[in-house]
Amino acid sequence: MYEQTLKNPIEFSGVGLHTGETAAMRVLPAPAGKGIVFRRVDLDNFELRADVGSVERVAYATTLMSRGVWISTVEHLLSALYALGIDNAYIELDNFEVPILDGSALLYTEAIEQAGILQLAVPRTYIRIDKPFKLEENGKTIAIYPADTLSLEYEIGFKHPLIGHQKLEVEITPENYRTLIAPARTFGFLHEVEALQAAGLVRGGSLENAIVLTENGMLNEISLRYADEFVRHKILDLLGDFALIGQRVLGRLTANRAGHALHTRFVAQLLESTDHWSSTTLNPVEVL
Ligand SMILES: [Zn+2]
Repeated sequence: MYEQTLKNPIEFSGVGLHTGETAAMRVLPAPAGKGIVFRRVDLDNFELRADVGSVERVAYATTLMSRGVWISTVEHLLSALYALGIDNAYIELDNFEVPILDGSALLYTEAIEQAGILQLAVPRTYIRIDKPFKLEENGKTIAIYPADTLSLEYEIGFKHPLIGHQKLEVEITPENYRTLIAPARTFGFLHEVEALQAAGLVRGGSLENAIVLTENGMLNEISLRYADEFVRHKILDLLGDFALIGQRVLGRLTANRAGHALHTRFVAQLLESTDHWSSTTLNPVEVL
C-alpha cells in the first residue's frame, strides 16, 4: 500500500538481444514519486522515464526514446520490477540496450529479492478499473476488466508442435511471478532469423538467451522450463509493457495473440480513457 524501492543496488552486464552490444547496468534505489527512470551514463546521465509516452519502436522488443536518445529491450527488467512491487528506481546503463541475460526475467527477479525491498513513507496511488476497456486489431485482442487485484491472462496459437494453443491466467504477486513467470524465456523461429538480422534485429541472439524453434522442434539441447513456457513468456512481456503505465493497477488484463505494438498502444489508450478508471489509494485495514 506504500511506494517501494530497492534496499541496495544491483548490477548486471551482458549482451543485448537485438543490437549485440554489451552493456553494464546498475539498478539503484530512488525516492518516492520518482518512478522508474533510465540513465544513460555514457551520455552525461541523460534521463529517460519508463513511461508509455517515451515508447518509440515496438518491433520484437520495446524501445524508449527521448530527444534522440534511446534504450531498447526494456520489457523484461520492467516486468520484474513491476511484479516485485518496485515503484521507484534509477536504471543506469552505459549503452543502448538492456542485457538479455538468459532471455527470461529470472536473474532480475532473484537479484531484486536478494537486494531487498524498502517501503517508503508515501501511500501508493492505484488505477482502479471501473469499466471494461478493450482494444481489437486484426484478430488480436487486449482487454481489462474491474478486479480487486492485478491478474494477467494470455492466449496464443502457433502452428508448431511445441506450442499449439496455450492459455494461462496468473494473479501477479511476487511469489507467483518468481515461480510461474520469471523463468520463461524469449522464443523465436529459426526461419525468421535471417530476415530479422537483415533488419538489424536479434544480432545478440543465441541459444544461451532464446528458445530457437525449428520446423518441428527446437535447436536448444536443454529442455523447456515449462511445457507452456511460450505463453508464460508472453505474460512476462505483457507485464513489462503494462508497467509503462507508471502506476499500480487493479484489474484483470486479458490478451489474445498480441505483441509489443498492441500492448503499448493499449496502455496509452487506457490512460487516455479516463472514464474507464479512477485513481485511488488503499487504506490500510485497521487492526482491532
Ligand atoms: Zn520478451
